[in-house]
Amino acid sequence: MALPIVAIVGRPNVGKSTLFNRIIGQRLAIVEDQPGATRDRLYSKGEWLNKEFMLIDTGGMTFDERDVLAASVTKQAQLAVDESDVIIFTVDGRTGITTEDMQITEILRKTQKPVIVAVNKIEEFKKQEGDFYEFYSLGFEEMVAISAANGFGIGDLLDKVIENFTEEGEDKEGDALKITFIGRPNVGKSSLVNKLLGSERVIVSDIPGTTRDAIDTKLEVEGETFILVDTAGLRRKSKVEESIEYYSVLRTIKAIERSDVAILVIDATTGVTEQDKRIAGFAHEGGKGVIIMVNKWDLIEKDNYTVKEFTREIRRELSFMDYAPIIFVSALTGQRINKIIPLVKEVAEQNALRIPTSLVNDVIFESIAITPPPTDRGKQLKINYVSQVSTKPPTFVFFVNDKELMHFSYLRFLENQLRNAFGFQGTPIRLIVRNKN
Ligand code: GDP
Ligand code: GDP
Repeated sequence: MALPIVAIVGRPNVGKSTLFNRIIGQRLAIVEDQPGATRDRLYSKGEWLNKEFMLIDTGGMTFDERDVLAASVTKQAQLAVDESDVIIFTVDGRTGITTEDMQITEILRKTQKPVIVAVNKIEEFKKQEGDFYEFYSLGFEEMVAISAANGFGIGDLLDKVIENFTEEGEDKEGDALKITFIGRPNVGKSSLVNKLLGSERVIVSDIPGTTRDAIDTKLEVEGETFILVDTAGLRRKSKVEESIEYYSVLRTIKAIERSDVAILVIDATTGVTEQDKRIAGFAHEGGKGVIIMVNKWDLIEKDNYTVKEFTREIRRELSFMDYAPIIFVSALTGQRINKIIPLVKEVAEQNALRIPTSLVNDVIFESIAITPPPTDRGKQLKINYVSQVSTKPPTFVFFVNDKELMHFSYLRFLENQLRNAFGFQGTPIRLIVRNKN
């Protein structure tokens, strides 16, 4: 099931990123940051009263500096309207209504989607009541006074947010694996999709009525069904407008969220770019199976070392995804296109892998016996037990005496031990450290 998307919009300086951090703050505290991974923090899972959602700060939505999207607040608001389920329109209670607020309002008024106005920077409601009520003139029904800085009103805001989630129908497609091709423009996503759909073993049909413009495509390969997520634009013969915007961050994130496996397409002729890294970061963060696909392999002059050299470069540039298999393909010649589906199945399986608790603990305790945790100012980390709490991605909770004693390098070591023992090729895994009791 796709998570509902909650977008924070608003002009600069109203406190969007403060609000974003406030809402996800709790979550950040338990999930370890990985150095090297792109952590833009413009989106994250949030949770309120056991309801999960994707929270997005549209203020930071750019692919790179050439991307004009973020330049204008109206574009940003439009993006939120198109791509999200609930919109938090953040305004500044201290400055009152500005022209930019009015511009955003104009766009948000046209949508049927729920808009909640969060009047921020209200630390003393009694004194600032007038400032708050002023915003009713924007014409939105739902309004909350908040202070992103100190937490006032955030619970009320989130209550309203989750009240507006609609129960989406169950996934019609059952357990069909969902695949998405992601990557920057011109790396060959459309060509790959078309090639895959054009190959003779594949039977294709559209799935009507997926979320408005996100058209999914169903394909059958040897009796098995797969879904290509968000193929709108990818299957069109000519792409009228080359669309950085189409493959905007939000769109990519949503496609990843709705998929089981993300195929990150990289152009062999350019190698890994900054933008590629950023998109790779989204896939990693999404917790889904990941395949790195180096396309346009036909254009590369090769000798015995070429694959090795490319592999080394990719591993260096995308070091946070060293678990992802790399495949060298050509949409033009069709080289290795038939390997895609088998690889997708493998990776999806690893992403859904569940290891019995006793086995996990055996592996971890053997590892600890050989390489004990380092001591920190005379105190030693003690791991009491480990348990896999979920799949997709496989997530393990380590119960310890004092989580402050768990260092990133040791956690990395433990992750490697789990990978050595159980595989997990093609999937990120998450390790969470908690104090026992
Ligand atoms: P953004 O540009 O909309 O993402 O805004 P930021 O989150 O970067 O905040 C802009 C400024 O407003 C910063 O100086 C924040 O410290 C400040 N700010 C954010 N939230 C609050 C709040 O609730 N109260 C007050 N007084 N200041 C805030
Ligand atoms: P997208 O923007 O990622 O969907 O990329 P396209 O599929 O539109 O491809 C961009 C350009 O690269 C087009 O001119 C394609 O013909 C070309 N292209 C795509 N895949 C290959 C490939 O494997 N080899 C070669 N030589 N060109 C390719």
